Amino acid sequence: MNRFTIHGARGSMSASGRAHARYGAETTCFSLETPRGLLIVDAGTGILGLADALMRRPSPPDITLLFTHWHLDHVMGLPCFSPIYQRRFRIRILSAAAGPEAESALSRVFGPPLWPVPIAGADAAVTYERLPGSAAAPCALRRYGVRIGWCPVLHPQSCVAYRFDTECGSVVVATDREHGNPEMDRRFFAFAANADVLVADAHYLPSE
Ligand SMILES: [Zn+2]
Repeated sequence: MNRFTIHGARGSMSASGRAHARYGAETTCFSLETPRGLLIVDAGTGILGLADALMRRPSPPDITLLFTHWHLDHVMGLPCFSPIYQRRFRIRILSAAAGPEAESALSRVFGPPLWPVPIAGADAAVTYERLPGSAAAPCALRRYGVRIGWCPVLHPQSCVAYRFDTECGSVVVATDREHGNPEMDRRFFAFAANADVLVADAHYLPSE
C-alpha cells in the first residue's frame, strides 16, 4: 500500500499554541511511502516527526529526499534529521536540474559555523542525484514504483513542483508557487491536471 503524509505545510517558521492546533505549524515536509521505499519532499521542521518514526523501525526503508528549492524553511529540519547520523540509513538526495546543486546548497546551512557537523561527515550513506531534463524540458524518472515528474514554478531563486503517479493514485506537491507568469502558470496547470490530490502550499492572501 502507498501512503502520502503531510508532515508540515504552513509558514516560514514553526510555531506552537492553540492558534495552530488544528493544522499544525511545521514548515514543509511531505512523504510518499511505497513497499519499495520512502520519498520525502523537503526537509522543513515537519521532517522531525518523521525522523522519530523512522528511528523506531528495525529495518529502515531506502530513502530518497527531494527538494522543491533551498529557502531556509524547506531545509531547516535536515541538520536535526536523526537518520542522517545513522549508518543503517541510505539517503539519496535528489534535486531538479534548476537552481544550485544540492550539495553546495545544503553545505551552507549544514556545517560550520551554523551547524557543528558538515553534511559530508554524517554517518548515513548520502548520495546526490539530479532529476533528468532541464528547466525548459523536465523529464520524469521512476523510483520505488512511482513516476516522479517535476515542473518549474514561479518563486525567487527558482522552485519546482513535483508530481507522483502511482498505480493507486497521483499527487502533486506545489509549495511557494506564485502567480504572475502566464506561461509558467499554463505549464503548471497542464502538469497538475487530473491529479487525485493537489497540495498547494502558499503564503499570501489574494489581497496581498
Ligand atoms: Zn521559498
